[in-house]
Amino acid sequence: MRKGLIVANWKMHGQRASNAALIHALNAGLTKQSDVDILVCPPSIYLEQIKALLAGSNILLGAQNTHSEETGAYTGEISAGMLKDMGCTHVILGHSERRELFQESDEFIAGKFTAAQTRGLIPILCVGETLAQREADETANIVLGQLEVVLKHAGVVAFGNAVIAYEPVWAIGTGLTASPEQAQQVHALIRNKIAEQDAGVAGDIRILYGGSVKADNAVELFAQQDIDGGLVGGASLIVEEFLRICSSYT
Ligand code: PEP
Repeated sequence: MRKGLIVANWKMHGQRASNAALIHALNAGLTKQSDVDILVCPPSIYLEQIKALLAGSNILLGAQNTHSEETGAYTGEISAGMLKDMGCTHVILGHSERRELFQESDEFIAGKFTAAQTRGLIPILCVGETLAQREADETANIVLGQLEVVLKHAGVVAFGNAVIAYEPVWAIGTGLTASPEQAQQVHALIRNKIAEQDAGVAGDIRILYGGSVKADNAVELFAQQDIDGGLVGGASLIVEEFLRICSSYT
């Protein structure tokens, strides 16, 4: 039985006062659920603040990105070892905003995946197709192609300690959500791809759905056989909404 995971991706939102208000409200409002982990990924500059606010809480701390190198002349970058040092357990990699806006390649993301694991972080690998790719019937090729590069680079066993997030690009921040059936179909493709190499890893790996997850659609999405939780952007900044999403996981 896979334990669920719900990730709050704050993106480039928040300041000290609003961060504190949000975390206080989550600490107070989240009921203890043994079947799901909750992970908050704030902007890196606030990791220390959020870590302190989470003292004594079950909520986990993660980051939104890292670099593939551990140290060196990479102005503005943050290494996996630094994130680990700040108390992170997870790091989001290959988010479509990183792929599109910062031209991150599959190979670069694969390097980050290994760097994260080497430093003791659990990578959350994001994959997903654009609307044009979906309309051209390219969804499976794109999603499995993105996964394949990391599988080749890191090996299937590495996925025993990783999370995958299926995030259709057309559903991120747009208010459009993949239907539960559309999402389930791609999640099953991803799990089957891993099962071709290792059935045990495929059975255990958590595959999250991301793309305009809201309180109103979470129950149906999370009810799908191969959907093990969500990667939540916009709705993770609205306390009541996020609490309802978390309690939707049963
Ligand atoms: C995301 O940040 O990965 C995301 C899915 O955003 P949103 O929930 O706002 O669509």
